Amino acid sequence: MLKLYNTLSRKKEVFKPLVDKKVGLYTCGPTVYDYAHIGNLRTYLFEDLLKRVLLYDGYNVNHVMNFTDVGHLVSDADEGEDKMTKALRREGKPFTLEAMREVGDFYADRFKEDINKLNIMPPNTYCSASRHIQEQIDLIKKLEEKGYVYTTSDGVYFDISKLEDYGKLAGLLKDEDSSPMEEKFARIGINPEKRHLRDFALWKFNKDLGWESPWGKGFPGWHIECSAMSMKYLGESFDIHCGAEDHIRVHHTNEIAQSEAATGKPFAKYWLHGAFLKFGDAKMSKSAGSFIVLKDVIDHGFSPLEFRLLLLQTHYHKPMKFVWESLTQAKAGLARLHELVEKLNEIQKDGEVSSGLKDMLTKAKKEFKSAINDDLNSPEALAVLFNLVTNINKIIDQNGLSKKDADHVLRLIDNFDEVLGIDITKTEKEKMPEEVLPLSILREKAREDKDWQKADELRDEINTLGYSVEDTPSGQKIKKI
Ligand code: AMP
Ligand code: ZN
Repeated sequence: MLKLYNTLSRKKEVFKPLVDKKVGLYTCGPTVYDYAHIGNLRTYLFEDLLKRVLLYDGYNVNHVMNFTDVGHLVSDADEGEDKMTKALRREGKPFTLEAMREVGDFYADRFKEDINKLNIMPPNTYCSASRHIQEQIDLIKKLEEKGYVYTTSDGVYFDISKLEDYGKLAGLLKDEDSSPMEEKFARIGINPEKRHLRDFALWKFNKDLGWESPWGKGFPGWHIECSAMSMKYLGESFDIHCGAEDHIRVHHTNEIAQSEAATGKPFAKYWLHGAFLKFGDAKMSKSAGSFIVLKDVIDHGFSPLEFRLLLLQTHYHKPMKFVWESLTQAKAGLARLHELVEKLNEIQKDGEVSSGLKDMLTKAKKEFKSAINDDLNSPEALAVLFNLVTNINKIIDQNGLSKKDADHVLRLIDNFDEVLGIDITKTEKEKMPEEVLPLSILREKAREDKDWQKADELRDEINTLGYSVEDTPSGQKIKKI
């Protein structure tokens, strides 16, 4: 039974999808104006962990992620320069939509490379804001028809006073004016034409750069893209929406407001938020001078999967401080896992599976499952794995293992790795192609449940993608045909 902490209810809840075993998942993607820093990557890794646990539990996941390539202003409170425009200035490019597209596509490709190195599964659908302008205009029109919008000299705004439960995600009160966010709004000097501090832009006017709209030339506000695209690909109500914790008070609060105002239906059922990665005491940000990207990690002699293991060692809900020494420990941890796999692969001894070992593996699997299903408790799940490693090493040193025993252990480690994604038993060459990985996890679960029909159907699907599946004593072997 999977339990997830839902920011909306401020409780851990038993996860029940809207439609039997199907899950619609929307995760806010990067603003493609620069490389992703390792703080951003922590958020995508938590979302990947969630997706892998859902697959491990046998859910079909339809995952959508956006690229923000227009409209995200430097401040979340609709003030300051557009981040993409800032990138054009930085890179000495002309202020045109074509140049903006070029910059956006460049950083989107770098993002895809990064997540691939980290074994983060790509979504089923990537969608970029600049390619969905019409959908955003249509949504704003709907809000206008329902009387939720007003126009000022610089844009079209959502009137939060029209919505009864505005701010329910973050527990905000509409007239609460002394919260840190309100202070921040006040400091940056808000547009005096706004009726309420928290009213937010749906469309910003810009005579020079942008798209035509019924309200004038310009570009969509940042929040509207996620509402328009998530509902386009997942429907007006869907299961899970994720992001980092900084999105709770403004971005996600506003997504809920405009989506529910437009449809009259609940938007996402579960809201999951990852805690920040901090560098020393500072937030991981460019302005704080602590902008570390994946390449820096690699240049320091660490592999992306060592970094992945490091991130998994802290629960996604807990703030995490990045220090280089902790990567050294993660490196040693991954090496310990690989050493055991090497030893297990070398075992050739005859003999049957010992019942003691079988019990130990069954217990470990049960504990591992219960940890990950308890709000994705990856540190606990890793503790189960490392405890198992210690025990198996002891057995090898004392009595030895048979080949059949060793295969069993390898198979369990492989099974854990479906969730952990740190390639414990795989070499670079054996890496599972990303398009078949979700299907292989679902097939493993079907086999475990002895649902042979589903396992066969999934095998056919994998075959259609050009891969063969062989069931061996140490698990499924998937190869290019
Ligand atoms: P951006 O590309 O700026 O839109 O951010 C991409 C994602 O990373 C968003 O979900 C942010 O909330 C998240 N994020 C930004 N900084 C951090 C950080 N230091 N730790 C974790 N997540 C972050
Ligand atoms: Zn978003």
